[in-house]
Amino acid sequence: MVTKPMTNTVELARELAQNGIATNAAKTDSTASFPEASIKALGESGLLGLMVPKAHGGKEATIREFVDTVSEIAASCASTGMIFVMHCCATHVIKNTLDDAAAAPILRDIAAGKHLTTLACSERGTGTHFYASHSTSKKEDGKYLLSGEKCFVTSARYADSYVLSTQAAENGGPLATSFYLVEKSDKGYEFQGDWNGLGLRGNESCVLKLNDCAVPADRVLGEEGAGVGFAIATILPLFLIGTAAVYTGIARAAYEASCAHVKDRHHKHTGDALADLQTIRRSIADMKVSVHSTKAFIDSIADIFDESPETPDLLIQLMEAKLLSTKTVKEVTMNAMQVCGGIAYSGALPVERYMRDGLAGSVMAPTSDVLADLIGKSALGQPLM
Ligand SMILES: Cc1cc2nc3c(=O)[nH]c(=O)nc-3n(C[C@H](O)[C@H](O)[C@H](O)COP(=O)(O)OP(=O)(O)OC[C@H]3O[C@@H](n4cnc5c(N)ncnc54)[C@H](O)[C@@H]3O)c2cc1C
Repeated sequence: MVTKPMTNTVELARELAQNGIATNAAKTDSTASFPEASIKALGESGLLGLMVPKAHGGKEATIREFVDTVSEIAASCASTGMIFVMHCCATHVIKNTLDDAAAAPILRDIAAGKHLTTLACSERGTGTHFYASHSTSKKEDGKYLLSGEKCFVTSARYADSYVLSTQAAENGGPLATSFYLVEKSDKGYEFQGDWNGLGLRGNESCVLKLNDCAVPADRVLGEEGAGVGFAIATILPLFLIGTAAVYTGIARAAYEASCAHVKDRHHKHTGDALADLQTIRRSIADMKVSVHSTKAFIDSIADIFDESPETPDLLIQLMEAKLLSTKTVKEVTMNAMQVCGGIAYSGALPVERYMRDGLAGSVMAPTSDVLADLIGKSALGQPLM
């Protein structure tokens, strides 16, 4: 496989992932606790500033660097990888759509590792259709008062800000939405419940309840009432490739753990290793081909994103990347569970964690069902919406 040489940023991510983040991953999963030490380490290394312009002290990464960095982190701890993707996507929105004067201090804090941000778009009422909202906004005395409920807010109580959507204050509707930056210090919101998911157990993806949460007018992201187009143009592309990188990283980790286990595990009565069995080698080969071909596909789309972002069907290709990565992670982690046998099932290996983490891929928005339908419509020349 032809790979590009790792940049300093990706090397830094690998070093941190293998020597720090990986050490915390099992405990993060077993206790369903937010990976505070790992996020702190990402902050101290400067990696939380991955998407921040150099002018504000950040790394101003390319999309390819973003993908490779996320993959390295997610291969070590998928929860940390997903928290990082939400942070980078929200940073990207702040950078591109918040008023410059309001954005500058936040971007500097992000680059200095002092500010974690996230996306708060999903609602129970609209489910996987994250671009639609039932929450409301009204304008009073130059401020916006936000009310409603967001669900699955990754990093919930640990984030310093939230890129959050509601119906627009004027002429609002489920698809006529506005986006705001809610800061931790704002009044009028609270978190409910704890996150106890099947996988991505460190995510702290909780419910955020808004009750006339007051946001100043200079924290509107983009145009008031920017709606679905804002979500599609500003959030979706980076989110699709970022989550694809998470699942590709998990799949690689499952493949590598399986190789290590089948070489190490010997049956005493024959002296053979699992690796000496043809059926095991066949499964290992299938896993390798899936991991490598998925990575090559995602890398190629990341390069198009960097070099020709105006490519007409780039968004569809990004959807294909996410859909493929979620199929791959399911297939590879299921294969890993089979070749590693009862020992994997017992929880003695990280493989069952990879499987649980990977299963989030097809149910997180946009889900595999939704993506497949959109990709099918595009292939058949039908309108997407
Ligand atoms: C671990 C985790 C972390 C998350 N973090 C965040 C976050 O930080 N921020 C955030 O905003 N959101 C987040 N989400 C929310 C996520 O992106 C989805 O919005 C949420 O998972 C939708 O779940 P639901 O059960 O309401 O889906 P539902 O909408 O009830 O969907 C259930 C099923 O129906 C299918 N379905 C629904 N509509 C259609 C359709 N039109 N066509 C075909 N099939 C359809 C779906 O594919 C799915 O299989 C997170 C979710 C998870 C699991």
